[in-house]
Amino acid sequence: MDIVFVTGNRGKVEEARSILGERGITLTQVECEYPEVQADELEVIAACGARWAAKRLGRSVVVDDSGIFIRALNGFPGPYSAYVQRTIGNQGILKLMEGVEDRYAVVKSVIGFCEPGCEPLTFTGVLEGAVSDRERGTHGFGFDPIFEVCGRTLGEMLPHEKNLISHRARALRKFADWL
Ligand code: IMP
Repeated sequence: MDIVFVTGNRGKVEEARSILGERGITLTQVECEYPEVQADELEVIAACGARWAAKRLGRSVVVDDSGIFIRALNGFPGPYSAYVQRTIGNQGILKLMEGVEDRYAVVKSVIGFCEPGCEPLTFTGVLEGAVSDRERGTHGFGFDPIFEVCGRTLGEMLPHEKNLISHRARALRKFADWL
């Protein structure tokens, strides 16, 4: 089975290929920008994106909307993670967290699936962890070097190690189970 994955993010595609490949599902990446609605919930953003892309491409699609939610910052940057990455980056997040004792954060990935003319479905994966005190590791992308689980950042994990536990793997496995 082949699924169209609408995203411009190579990192997401590589991870999703490896995770869904285990279930015999292959992915074709389509780089078609879709409008991101402003909402507090990633589920709403992913559902709207999937509906828009399915209509535009005339075929079933998946999209992935992800973010890091930092408890000490009341869940910021959450749905604004991409904007925060582009503007202040990981160094900016670490600066906001300077001197903050509560490092707890979760990363979340929502897979939105939509068939043309149907209502979109969403599948959510969450990974609990902590914001590190500095960037560590060269693997992965985005906030991977500053998000740690059991003392190691996602950036310090090899791709297959991240895929065993990640928010994206959890969301994609739910999607694969449903499929
Ligand atoms: P979006 O889902 O494309 O809106 O991504 C939100 C932000 O989170 C972007 O800056 C991504 O690079 C980043 N991001 C998404 N998934 C991951 C991940 O698995 N690890 C680290 N950063 C991620």
